[in-house]
Amino acid sequence: MSHFESGSLTGKDLHLAFGHNKVLRGIDLHVEKGTAASVIGPSGSGKSTLLRVMNRLIEPDQGDILLDGRSVLKDNPDELRRRIGMVFQQFNLFPHKSVGENVAFALRKLRKLPKEQAWSEALEQLDKVGLKHKAEVRPSTLSGGQQQRVAIARALAMQPEVMFFDEATSALDPELVKGVLALMTDLAKDGMTMVVVTHEMGFSRNVSNQVVFMDGGVVVENGSPEKLFTDPQTDRLKKFLSDVL
Ligand code: ADP
Ligand code: MG
Repeated sequence: MSHFESGSLTGKDLHLAFGHNKVLRGIDLHVEKGTAASVIGPSGSGKSTLLRVMNRLIEPDQGDILLDGRSVLKDNPDELRRRIGMVFQQFNLFPHKSVGENVAFALRKLRKLPKEQAWSEALEQLDKVGLKHKAEVRPSTLSGGQQQRVAIARALAMQPEVMFFDEATSALDPELVKGVLALMTDLAKDGMTMVVVTHEMGFSRNVSNQVVFMDGGVVVENGSPEKLFTDPQTDRLKKFLSDVL
């Protein structure tokens, strides 16, 4: 795959409440340039909300977000969303556009490329995820795994500095998970800065180089996979690991 101009990402003392529900209670997180961090933790612990706050789909009540050491809170949120690519559990492809148009559309709107160039770059991105031959068809004719690879190609076409994945394989049939994880593994090995919310403990342990365990809106443990998986320090992480492994 290509060479990335990836950057570091920092969240500082991030707080967010939905009404009286304090979902993020002072999150500090630093992901170094070129690091793939996985975020694990029980359902409802605030993992998805953290991603949404860090790319400013939701504004934090308190705290700061830094890309490459510089606060982005005063920037145009659209600019930040170009710099941070996001892939969701639901692929969110436009059903009435062709696969190629799904990628090219973003290139025209966000990177302001002229039509022809947007299309040729879209084909290039699709080629990297092995789906160039599907450029002319509708997303619904693809398997879930292929659709997710299109969503990843679309995010990568923005030339993001950081990629977020929120349970990108959770909606897929088991036999389709492997292809998507392989693509994410390639990205990590190529030095993309990544924050990956996942239930795939194999990915967390064997591919990611940093593991962040969240519970109750705080980061409970944060460190290398070896450390967290073989020497958990808290009862909360011990319990979580015994529940999922
Ligand atoms: P996780 O991804 O770890 O399962 P979430 O970030 O989705 O956790 O949710 C954390 C908490 O925030 C939950 O209590 C959830 O009900 C609440 N929550 C998430 N999104 C919203 C929202 N848009 N409005 C109100 N509450 C929300
Ligand atoms: Mg979630």
